[in-house]
Amino acid sequence: MKLLVATGNQGKLKEIRHLLATSPIEIVGLDELDNPPDVIEDGMSFTENACKKALEMARFSGLLTLADDSGLVVNALNGEPGVHSARYAGQQGDDRANNTKLLHMMATVPDEQRRAAFCCVMALAWPDGRVRTFEGQISGFIMRGERGSGGFGYDPLFLVPEYGMTTAELPLEIKNRISHRGIALRQVIEALSELN
Ligand code: IMP
Repeated sequence: MKLLVATGNQGKLKEIRHLLATSPIEIVGLDELDNPPDVIEDGMSFTENACKKALEMARFSGLLTLADDSGLVVNALNGEPGVHSARYAGQQGDDRANNTKLLHMMATVPDEQRRAAFCCVMALAWPDGRVRTFEGQISGFIMRGERGSGGFGYDPLFLVPEYGMTTAELPLEIKNRISHRGIALRQVIEALSELN
């Protein structure tokens, strides 16, 4: 079975490929399409954005398509950066600037109020317009400085208390086992296996 994974984010693609490595699903990347449309992520929720991306790309490609919208939800910032996670500091995908802004916004927030969660919604869309969604979350705390060199995005600032490590310090196997994306994707894999 062919599955288009509609993400331009190499960090996400790496995690998704890793999670699907033992399944019979053949992953098609956006780079294998000719002039794919640029989908504007202007939704108010992760679900809205994930569905929009998956549906537009499924219609364009004629392939079953998986899209994910994810982000960091920080309690002390009323849920920000949320759907704006990738462009929190202004420029799309500037992880360094986003992390600097997050540290600045959290500078005066005491330890016990630094709770946050990574959230992920995956949308599986068919070219005929059907769509299903799957959700995952992981809870943690925002650090006061970066730690670790793995992962991407806010990983060096996201402490998983059960492991005493940030998601940038955790080996990919462990991050995938406990992460928002791993939890959502395992439900996708189960749904895909029921299609066969
Ligand atoms: P989008 O889903 O492509 O709109 O962007 C999600 C953004 O949320 C990323 O650019 C990261 O900033 C952040 N994010 C989502 N998942 C993770 C993760 O697993 N680790 C670190 N940052 C993440």
